[in-house]
Amino acid sequence: MLHQVVGLIESKRRFAITSHIRPDGDSLGSSLGLYWLLRALDKEVEVIMRDEVPHAYAKLPGAETVRVTPRVDRQYDAVFVIECSDITRPGLIDLEKQLVVNIDHHSTTALFGDINWIDSTASAVGEMIYNLCKALGVRVTKEIAECVYTALITDTGSFHYSNTSERTFKVASELVRAGVKPAKVSQNVFANYPWSKIELMSGVLSTVRRDESGRVAWLVQTQEAQERAHATDEDGDGFVNYPMSCGDVEACAFFKETAPGVYRVSLRSKCDVNVARIAERFGGGGHRNAAGCTFKGSWEEAQSEVVGQLIYAVENRGQNGTGSLANQKEVFAAAERREAEQRQEIRPRT
Ligand code: 5GP
Ligand code: MN
Repeated sequence: MLHQVVGLIESKRRFAITSHIRPDGDSLGSSLGLYWLLRALDKEVEVIMRDEVPHAYAKLPGAETVRVTPRVDRQYDAVFVIECSDITRPGLIDLEKQLVVNIDHHSTTALFGDINWIDSTASAVGEMIYNLCKALGVRVTKEIAECVYTALITDTGSFHYSNTSERTFKVASELVRAGVKPAKVSQNVFANYPWSKIELMSGVLSTVRRDESGRVAWLVQTQEAQERAHATDEDGDGFVNYPMSCGDVEACAFFKETAPGVYRVSLRSKCDVNVARIAERFGGGGHRNAAGCTFKGSWEEAQSEVVGQLIYAVENRGQNGTGSLANQKEVFAAAERREAEQRQEIRPRT
């Protein structure tokens, strides 16, 4: 809860902040926002991450101070874990030996912290960091404001998504008052691509397909396409959004092959199609309209199972679903087979 976080910060001195592997705009913006907030209070603080800061966020104030490490190798009074569904998401060894403060805005998050502050009404964790700033009576500096603003625009898709609320705009307006130049931050984050991303995009977009109804689209980035474009791992970020810009498309899946037979899956939807439920079925999670998971299997299986579930969810969205029973049976039989297989995989050794 917020008052516990305030009490902890006021009474302790030495902190670390971390977030999930392959950090995104909300995880880095919120982590660095909290970093500047704690610095303003003269606390000892560092941001530690398992993965490097992606190119898109390299210009965030303090990005150069992020320490990349596979292990929590120092003792802190507390470690803030930003935007993580469970304690393994940061990918840091020995994290559980620290006093952990879990700060998240996903309603599906596990209460893994010694303190858990979860606000599923916040559009981004960045909004929560802003509230923490106010609760601690800290002036919103330009550094804090730029970091938090980056969190807001990335998690709300530049105020396009349904998590955008009146409060989001209020906070954004306060951040602009504190010195944020919206055009400059957007340029840094969304219009700063390397050419390899453009080349990769031309290959990946050529794979796009859609179902008979035209309401579900999917596309794939193979390892071969990535190599051909000399692209980095992060160059594929955001590709899931392109088919979504078609008026007819209500849900989309983007598959990124990370190893033979292993796909990182990004799911997006509009309106009341809940893709978090689908991601959870494959061991992932996220929000109703944006979620992700990892799928192990062939490309044919990935399509029939993940895309099959998306088609079913779109056909049956709302109260007056029209999905055919045959399709439902096929999709769920495949999902059940996979769940049974996963149970085998994770069964503890005796
Ligand atoms: P993206 O598609 O951008 O990687 O992820 C979209 C959303 O889904 C994010 O809010 C992210 O936190 C969540 N997400 C993505 N992958 C995973 C996963 O493997 N596990 C969980 N729990 N959430 C995920
Ligand atoms: Mn977020």
